[in-house]
Amino acid sequence: MSTLTPKVKNTSTSPEKTNIKIEDDRTGMNKETLKRAFLDHLFYIQGVDRSKASLRDYYMALSYTVRDRLLHRFLKTIETYKKEEVKIVSYFSAEFLMGRHLGNNLVNLGIYDTMKDIMTEMKIDFEDIIEQEPDPGLGNGGLGRLAACFLDSLASLAMPAIGYGIRYEFGIFHQTIQDGWQVEIPDNWLRFENPWEIARPDDAVEIKLGGHTEHTHDENGNPKTFWVADSTILAVPYDTPVPGYDTNTVNPLRLWKAEASENFNFEAFNAGQYDRAVQEKMDAETISKVLYPNDNTPAGRKLRLEQQYFFVSASLQDLIRIHLRNHNNLDHFADKVAVQLNDTHPAVAVAELMRLLMDKHNYQWEKAWEITTKALAYTNHTLMPEALERWPVSIFGELLPRHLEIIYELNHRFLEDQRTYFPGDDDLITNISLIEEREEKLIRMANLACLGSHAINGVAALHTELLKQDTLKHFAKLWPEKFFNKTNGVTPRRWILLSNPKLSALVTEKIGDGWLKNLDEMRKLEKFADDAAFRKQWREIKQQNKQSLADYLLKYRNIKIDPNTMFDVQVKRIHEYKRQHLMVLEIINLYNRIKENPNADYVPRTFLFGGKAAPGYFMAKLIIKLINAVADVVNNDPDVRGRLNVVFMPNFNVSLGQRVYPAADLSEQISTAGKEASGTGNMKFAMNGALTIGTLDGANIEIREEAHPENFFLFGLTAHEVYDRKAQGYSPSEYYHNNGSLKAVIDRISSGHFSHGNGELFGPIVEQLMNDDPYMLMADYQAYVDCQDAVSEAYRDQENWTRMSILNSARMGKFSSDRTIAEYCSEIWNVKPVDIKIAEYNPNGANN
Ligand SMILES: *Cc1c(COP(=O)(O)O)cnc(C)c1O
Repeated sequence: MSTLTPKVKNTSTSPEKTNIKIEDDRTGMNKETLKRAFLDHLFYIQGVDRSKASLRDYYMALSYTVRDRLLHRFLKTIETYKKEEVKIVSYFSAEFLMGRHLGNNLVNLGIYDTMKDIMTEMKIDFEDIIEQEPDPGLGNGGLGRLAACFLDSLASLAMPAIGYGIRYEFGIFHQTIQDGWQVEIPDNWLRFENPWEIARPDDAVEIKLGGHTEHTHDENGNPKTFWVADSTILAVPYDTPVPGYDTNTVNPLRLWKAEASENFNFEAFNAGQYDRAVQEKMDAETISKVLYPNDNTPAGRKLRLEQQYFFVSASLQDLIRIHLRNHNNLDHFADKVAVQLNDTHPAVAVAELMRLLMDKHNYQWEKAWEITTKALAYTNHTLMPEALERWPVSIFGELLPRHLEIIYELNHRFLEDQRTYFPGDDDLITNISLIEEREEKLIRMANLACLGSHAINGVAALHTELLKQDTLKHFAKLWPEKFFNKTNGVTPRRWILLSNPKLSALVTEKIGDGWLKNLDEMRKLEKFADDAAFRKQWREIKQQNKQSLADYLLKYRNIKIDPNTMFDVQVKRIHEYKRQHLMVLEIINLYNRIKENPNADYVPRTFLFGGKAAPGYFMAKLIIKLINAVADVVNNDPDVRGRLNVVFMPNFNVSLGQRVYPAADLSEQISTAGKEASGTGNMKFAMNGALTIGTLDGANIEIREEAHPENFFLFGLTAHEVYDRKAQGYSPSEYYHNNGSLKAVIDRISSGHFSHGNGELFGPIVEQLMNDDPYMLMADYQAYVDCQDAVSEAYRDQENWTRMSILNSARMGKFSSDRTIAEYCSEIWNVKPVDIKIAEYNPNGANN
């Protein structure tokens, strides 16, 4: 039966009904037409026939076949938005971690199974073709992946939307492991043609940088400012069509590439300085050259600010251009566009929109400010003060002199106002100021974003509460009505249907396919938790997914794992606050136990890790080395063989995630409480039937609530307890001295047992744990070990484990990004779905 195409879509008029000959039905969805289109593309685009075609030729031909079917929906979507003058969401994000397009586009178009059948009939391995696509890694982790899930949900809910970002030539680096250490390889993902993007050079816009400002007055005597920049570059848009599932909506993801503007190097060129002319062209292009591989740490580099300004200015100019096609002025700009700032990376939009409105479109300050704040909204993604972006005034002013003036003026007016409301409250004024007054003055981008937005949101209930009580408490005091919670979600299309086709088929067989558009329908599975035959099917699918992951790791990474052990998985960026090293402490504890008592009965486990460390993040890289060092010893010790296995899977990305989440038995969500804003990996695991071991952090709290506490392995301090312990004076070494097993674990590391006798290698980790332990591993250690013991006991009872697994999947409806997006649409953006009516493709455009 059909697996990935639960519903046959019929947006294509069938040839029978209309008397169009098959060869004229240019973008039909039936098998004959698709096959014909595939072969045509192979021949006419790739220039090969079947005897010469490589896997990449097949991938390209297949992709163009799919793209053709996206394009008329795409054009129709844009035309409809323009004609109906609807309000549009524009999602500004420095990162979009889209994952591979081919499989997802086939799913959303409803032709996955048809295409797979065609390939099978032609004896072409469909999996191999999917594997040809480079994973478009234009993001670091959760934040970029959230943006991608949101685009899928927006299109699937038929919401008018456009994603704006940067077309990085190099995405997140490719991670290899050498001698246990992370080694970064550049990700040249555009080396071969990208069939999913369409360049739109006609829509290029100019971006100014540097220089100074000049102040005069206009003919009415109003102040007027000119920005005399010292360089101008071009922003060229590339559009990637983003289709919704089971709708005709195909929204644009518009990513900007930096190029030298045409007359940029004219002078040098004429003066015979050809090399200088070329150099300047290269300098201009560096702006969109590479994604900064930092997750939750600001880069603080001038080029990063250039990137932020570059895509924000280009996107706002684009939105203004679009608005002025239908309107005479920008008075109602904010009624027609909602701009969402994904973290503070695009927060310079506050100053840029003010500049465009005042300097280019002649608005006075007050009106410009009204439009700006009405248009913008801001999503905060972190509570950690060190992760909040702050730019030195010197760097900022050198690059964006006009924006610095605007920010100073904004700050002056803002603080004057608040002083009248809260006279004498110096603490408040110091905290809300856009400028942090130090020897080196800093611009606080979170404060700028709060001031310039009509809505501010956190990404999980706890996160929003802590924002209001702590990180942004002064703004919450000024404007409580501006604060919203929008708990994150993930798209069930990519993260269940595409990643876990077997489970999807079983679910659809039992409850129909409504869950794909309304994940709450998964609740209908609850009643099958007590059905032994169903549990058996459920368990067999998990087993097959584990086997598939094992096969994949063997085939592509030369890693051998045993699918008959529990798969205990932590995949996410490597970060101290996420505490991969807490899981390592538990592994060493189990190792010590087995060594001490080799004949006891243990539940065999494979501990699987995956994740990248920021290249400059020393501790994160040392944690990777520690994992691999422990793996090396544990996996080669005959005493523990078969019971304890540790694997670090290199280069964790969306594609690997699609294989890992469905294969996990246990999901590790063990961050220090109060540090993880939401997490989304936690949702992907639970949807696919993994049980969670986790702290009361981020969305774990809500996942536990939904799954019910008895189906969740909880341990550790709460966010408030973490805060109180620190306030009381936390002394981690006491735990070492008072806990024999913890002492044995730490001593194993410092003895050099995992580092060929070199006791120094992991010294920085040990010293941190013993001295200040900012992430409280020592305080949570025993609770974690006890909880892991409870997990092992629970796993012995496979019937009950399966029951819990089913109930977890069945109760994750809340964590569909469709729910999240529906909330943003109604409560923050005020946008409504738009029906895209589509006639069959006609080369003469007659029936549109
Ligand atoms: C979902 C996802 C993340 C986020 O994982 P968390 O566990 O929420 O930190 C990071 N990277 C990739 C590739 C993902 O798919």
